[in-house]
Order: sequence, then structure tokens, then C-alpha cells
Amino acid sequence: MLLRAFFLVYNIKRNGSGIMILPDYKEAKQRTSKTVLREEYNIDKDLKSLGKGKTYYVKTYGCQMNEHDSENIKAMLEQIGFTEVDDYEKADLVLLNTCSIRENAHNKAFGFLGRLKHLKEEKKDLIIGLCGCMAQEEGVVDEILHKYKFVNFVFGTHNLHRLPYLIKDNMTTSKQVIEVYSKEGNIIEGMPVKRENNYKAFVNIIYGCDKFCTYCIVPFTRGKQRSRDKDDILKEVEELVKEGYQEVTLLGQNVNAYGKDFDYKYTMEDLLEDVAKTNIPRVRFMTSHPWDFTDKMIEVIAKYDNIMPSVHLPVQAGSDRILKLMGRRYTKESYLELFNKIKNTIPNVSISTDIIVGFPGETEEDFEETLDLAEKCKYDNAFTFIYSPRENTPAAKFEDNVTLEEKEDRLHRLNEVVNKYFLENNKKLVGKTVKVLVEGKNTNGKDGYFGYTDTNKLININTTKDYTGKIIDVKVTDAKTWSLDGEIDE
Ligand code: SAM
Ligand code: SF4
Repeated sequence: MLLRAFFLVYNIKRNGSGIMILPDYKEAKQRTSKTVLREEYNIDKDLKSLGKGKTYYVKTYGCQMNEHDSENIKAMLEQIGFTEVDDYEKADLVLLNTCSIRENAHNKAFGFLGRLKHLKEEKKDLIIGLCGCMAQEEGVVDEILHKYKFVNFVFGTHNLHRLPYLIKDNMTTSKQVIEVYSKEGNIIEGMPVKRENNYKAFVNIIYGCDKFCTYCIVPFTRGKQRSRDKDDILKEVEELVKEGYQEVTLLGQNVNAYGKDFDYKYTMEDLLEDVAKTNIPRVRFMTSHPWDFTDKMIEVIAKYDNIMPSVHLPVQAGSDRILKLMGRRYTKESYLELFNKIKNTIPNVSISTDIIVGFPGETEEDFEETLDLAEKCKYDNAFTFIYSPRENTPAAKFEDNVTLEEKEDRLHRLNEVVNKYFLENNKKLVGKTVKVLVEGKNTNGKDGYFGYTDTNKLININTTKDYTGKIIDVKVTDAKTWSLDGEIDE
């Protein structure tokens, strides 16, 4: 009886390879008011020596969320005895943490899988795993089942905490293991983490997304919008302060929707204030959706010196017609109003954005609205993309009469405008002194050290003295499009 219920909840297949829980788009689309289940991460003692004497390599694609998931994955692998190596050819286990936001992210992951196939022909015992957003896609998992049989295990974004068990299942049965829950998602607390940076840390505050922008696959791959409990977040930040961390980035697909799923009133503004009061030297947050950005939030950012004056505010397009087709819930005018309010209230704020060109049906006039908006906003940074149709999203069914040539031409023209302003804004800083968190020695062949300003600009510092991990004053001596040069008044 229990087993029947289990089979009904998940899209389960039983074949020669055992039981597989496969992704299911119909289920992934569902949003109910069901309370989110909060669970504590725990593993059985007998798993702790599973990887003893073995090595691992994790390849991460995509956004900061994925980078942070990989920090949990690495810590779980080390908890069960594996040791990290920096060359995948030397590893006993290779895991791909994938991204599905655009087609090229897919192609990169499949390209790497191709290389791993050859490696496995020489190293029969190599264990290969795939996880992350691509694992949540029906089409991808189908392809792996049929064309990439050498992949040992696949797990979805909701199954991260199950990794040690999936490795054990694969090792003990020698069968391909696929476990992808398509449910709206729970919250797992207490997962171990191996942080990649000793001074800057990512802290998840909200998972999933309920916005369903018509081009975007994230609501399907990451599940329902669900906020972590504020006490768990604050405890994590307080521990980071004790460990000497200088900066925390509060992460979510839509951070300013934080708390909207609680049955009591505690919002992103409240959380930002409480995190600022832990006295961590730098607080950042990303990504903000313009629709949820309140006046109160702007006031809080302006009020606390340790909340960095740097806001990522994706606009996606400048044409109201396209914004409506995208389901973005704002107009060019209301976006500009918010943009100007942020600029006028937070001293020296830097604003960055994301822009998509070549959305289905985008006309030259629509595109010119985007160019006009880029001219008006003079962004400090912008991530620009050609629209990529994603399986099962509404926009993938829209008629698209814009040729690839036109899309590439628009991307090129847009980049010329945004790059012009990156340089112009950077030049305004020459001669000024800025606060920089020094991260380490330059790795680009130059002497000296590098770090990031409070406005999140990369700066190369001409010094022989090691200030790594410290926030120091640096005088800007030169400006490039994507970075600054500076020196210390010693
Ligand atoms: N949640 C954030 C927001 O709404 O602004 C963004 C999350 S997404 C990981 C990062 C960016 O990828 C988006 O802002 C958008 O510009 C871009 N993106 C998402 N779906 C895309 C698609 N189908 N084609 C091209 N770019 C896309
Ligand atoms: Fe995707 Fe961001 Fe829109 Fe959510 S808000 S659907 S993550 S683009």
C-alpha cells in the first residue's frame, strides 16, 4: 500500500536498471499553499567510509546558486571519505553540477560528458554523476537514459542531500541510479559546506521562484518559492562573523520576495536589517526582481554602511510590449522610476542588470526601446544574452520571426552601448579612494593583488604587501571597461 502511494507521488519507472524517479514537468509546474517541509540533514554512520581512499572532481556550470550547491556537494563527498583533486582525469568520481538557463549551458555539459565517456573507456571504475538544473528536465534525463548509459547516477536540485545514499546505491548495485523529485521542494537545513573563499560567503535565503517569466526554466527546475527561517539564516551569518568572514551574499532567484510565503510578517527589509546588525563588514544580496523592490528596502540599504551600495536589477527589455510578453509585471516607465529612486537615495550606488535580445517577435522598434533604456540607465555592469527557447516554457511556443543574424547584430549593438558606460563610470573613479576587500594575488599574469570595491568593481592593486582578507583604502589610478587599477597610499 505504502509502495503504491510512493509510485503515485513520483514519476517512477522500473526497468532492468532498478527503480528510477524521473523528472515530471506537470508536477514541477504545480504550486499549492501546502506548507513547506523543513528537514534536518543527517546521514547514516555506515556511509562515512564509502569514499575512503578515493578522489573526486566537481565541475560547476551556471549561477551563484549552483556554485553554492557545489560547496554543499563537496562537503558531503568529503564527509563520506572522498578527497578533492583539481584534475578530472585523476578523479575516481566526477560530478557535473549543471545549468539549463540557456542552450549553450546544455551544450557545454554534454560536451564534457563526451570527454568523460572516453575517459571511462580507459578507467572502467570511474563513477560519473550529473546533477543540478539539467537533471530536472524530462528531455535531458531521457537522453541520459538512452544515449549516456555510462553515467552512473543523476539527481535533481531537490535531491542534493540524498547524494551519499545515491552513491551507495550505485556502488552496491552497479546500476544506473536516477532520483529527481519534481515536487515543489522542501528546505533542508544543516547540510555541510566547503566554502571556496575564506573571506566571502554565500548564504541561501530563499529557494525556487514563482514568477514564471515566460522565457524562464527556473520555476520548473528549482521549484516553489520558499524562504528559509530567519533564525537559521542569522545563525549561519553569526557563525561566519565568528570565523572572520568579511562579506556575505544573500542568495535567491528573487531575494526581495523573501518572507512572502510566511504566515507572519517578516520581509526582506527586516532580514537585511537583522543581517546588517550582526556587524559582518559587507552584506550583498542577489538577485532582486524590480516588481518586489520596495521603498523600505531602498531606505534600509541606504541606512546601513555595511550593506553594500550595489544593486543587481535585471530589466530584460525596454519595450513595454516585450516586457508584457515576458510576464515581467513592470513597464519601462515604472522600471526607470524605481531605478532613479535607487540612484537618488543610496549614495554612490552602482546598478547592474540582465538584458535579453531577440525575444520572439521583437521588432527593431522594440529593440530600440532597449537601447534607449540602456542609454538612460548607464549601467555599471550588464549581462546581455540572446533569447534561448527553453523546453516547456510559454515563450518557446511563441512565433519567432527574428533571424539569428538579427539577434546577433542586436546583441553586438547593445554591447557597444553598455560597454561605453562601464568605461565612462569607471573613469569617474580615477583619482578617488575606494574601499576594497582584497582577495589574493593577481592570477592574470600581472604583479600585485586583486579585490572588489564596495560597488562590486574588480580592482587590480599595484602593491607587494599582502592585505588578503582585509578591507583597505585604495586610490584608483586607471580605468578599463571591466576593471580598475589602483595603488595603496603606504
Ligand atoms: N531571477 C533573476 C531575475 O528575474 O532577474 C534572474 C535569474 S536567471 C538565472 C539570470 C538571467 O538569465 C535572467 O535575468 C535572464 O536575463 C537570463 N535568462 C533567463 N532565461 C533565459 C532565456 N530563456 N534565454 C536567454 N536568457 C535567459
Ligand atoms: Fe526566471 Fe527570474 Fe523570472 Fe524567476 S523571476 S522566472 S528566476 S527570470
